Amino acid sequence: MHNVVIIGSGCAGLTAAIYAGRANLNPLVLDGHEPGGQLSITTLVENFPGFPDGIQGPELIDHMRKQAQRFGAEFRSGAISGVDLSKRPFKLSAGNESYECQTLIIASGASARLLGIESERALIGRGVSTCATCDGYFFRGKDIVVIGGGDTAMEEATFLTRFASKVILLHRRNDFRASKIMLERARSNPKIQFMTPYVVEEVHGLGKGAAEAVQIRNVDTGEMKVIQTEGIFVAIGHDPNTGPFVGKLDMDANGYLITHDGPLTSVEGVFAAGDVQDHVYRQAVTAAGSGCMAAIEAERFLEKHHPA
Ligand code: NDP
Repeated sequence: MHNVVIIGSGCAGLTAAIYAGRANLNPLVLDGHEPGGQLSITTLVENFPGFPDGIQGPELIDHMRKQAQRFGAEFRSGAISGVDLSKRPFKLSAGNESYECQTLIIASGASARLLGIESERALIGRGVSTCATCDGYFFRGKDIVVIGGGDTAMEEATFLTRFASKVILLHRRNDFRASKIMLERARSNPKIQFMTPYVVEEVHGLGKGAAEAVQIRNVDTGEMKVIQTEGIFVAIGHDPNTGPFVGKLDMDANGYLITHDGPLTSVEGVFAAGDVQDHVYRQAVTAAGSGCMAAIEAERFLEKHHPA
């Protein structure tokens, strides 16, 4: 029986583990599919307070993990396959293992959707990015390609014009899913060039170890083109990792967990932190902040329901 199980070992989960550890709750952290979360696949993080020269994403995660271990957090690998939240103790299964806990912190994050091209995956953090706020700064004075036709793509393209000399917005259809206002804002930006209907066939640069161009295909005509670019931002949405909680916790239409009063979910004793409940800010520092809140609320809940 665990006082608290934390699902996910990204920034939110690890911060929750540090706080729960320091509260003597001996938290158990289940790593999930992507140990370390999205930071573990980024390169330089320059906006996490406390690192004036920036820090590599994997290094930051490694520090947090060691910090959590120092306060007694235990780590197990394994992705959650089943949960019973109908009564306490909550029951979880991950592969052949099963766990029981009095409180649960869900910090399973959201995964950026990728196009699914092998060269794209191989060059993530080497020119291919899924986060303009995180990586835009590295492309000062460069030409950038943004892929997508929703609000995220419009927002990222507009944001990236602060750094880029030119942003090419590439979308697979001539119609856009983005809201009118955001589409118009992007359209009226002289630095943004729209190209439709195009899909990316290949990211070039594997040999060099860094993106240098994208090969694109016109969906209507089949015409192929190569665009020279060192920065490719894939902005085709995120999927929250909430599969095991469908029907068990309140979610919005896109599958994000709905929280209230900070990190509280629709089930008492279950808390959520980080991108799994936040599609707006999605920053390492906000994820860490919400992980802290979740651990403090779990501690208060345990004090109330299971006083030592
Ligand atoms: P969306 O699902 O709205 O849009 C995804 C876009 O990516 C679509 O244009 C889609 O094309 C395209 N796409 C999806 N898969 C592929 C693929 N495999 N290859 C090429 N293109 C692909 O996601 P967003 O992240 O843009 O937005 C999610 C939610 O967040 C929305 O509700 C949005 O309004 C909201 N949001 C709000 C913001 C704000 O208000 N400031 C900012 C950002 C997001 P297609 O249209 O052809 O399916």
